Amino acid sequence: MKLLLIEDEAALRQTLAASLRQNGHVVETAADYAQAHEKIKLYAYDCVLVDLTLPGGDGLDLVRTLKADKSAAGVLILTARDGLDDRVRGLDLGADDYLTKPFHLSELNARLRALLRRRQFGGQQTLVFRELTVWPDAAEVRVRGALLPLTRKEYDLLLYLLANPGRVLTKEAIAEHLSGDQVDTADSLDFIYSHLKNLRKKLTELGAENYIRTLYGVGYKLSLE
Ligand code: CA
Repeated sequence: MKLLLIEDEAALRQTLAASLRQNGHVVETAADYAQAHEKIKLYAYDCVLVDLTLPGGDGLDLVRTLKADKSAAGVLILTARDGLDDRVRGLDLGADDYLTKPFHLSELNARLRALLRRRQFGGQQTLVFRELTVWPDAAEVRVRGALLPLTRKEYDLLLYLLANPGRVLTKEAIAEHLSGDQVDTADSLDFIYSHLKNLRKKLTELGAENYIRTLYGVGYKLSLE
């Protein structure tokens, strides 16, 4: 999943980002309010992890901005403040969950898995699409019971398509989803093509239908027909 981690303490930011990346997420970071505000205005994320006390502003205002923009991103508040008021205000503003610092990395990752499951899979442990079954917690996909051997990028790509059935996803949106803002070049569009080619090949080899449609010059979509 693609995450934005907003945290001004450099050491904590690096530790958290490393742990989240190890868990297979694409992680972008912001170190202050202005940087975070710019990113949430420019890019789409599956989840935003926001510290409340930031240089240049209040993390709760970022939550307000996300909600005012009708962002689809989940919101997880990371707070050192032990005030009940802040947590209640955060949840009232539409945040999905919060963690009080200090917390264990395993708890952060577990809360994040639960949050993404709630938001993307309606709280289900598995997602079923035709002959495919996906276990998001294990990052595992099976075709009629047979394990589909996917790379991390192929898995992320398939999940992105499954989360947007019937919707056209542009190559640019897919590139941004898979790589974050490091990759804004034409090269990244070629790598989408090769990931898609491999994904289709693996699906059809296990006997799944090819439901990933190409709309030439536009992008791709998961066909519901
Ligand atoms: Ca802080």
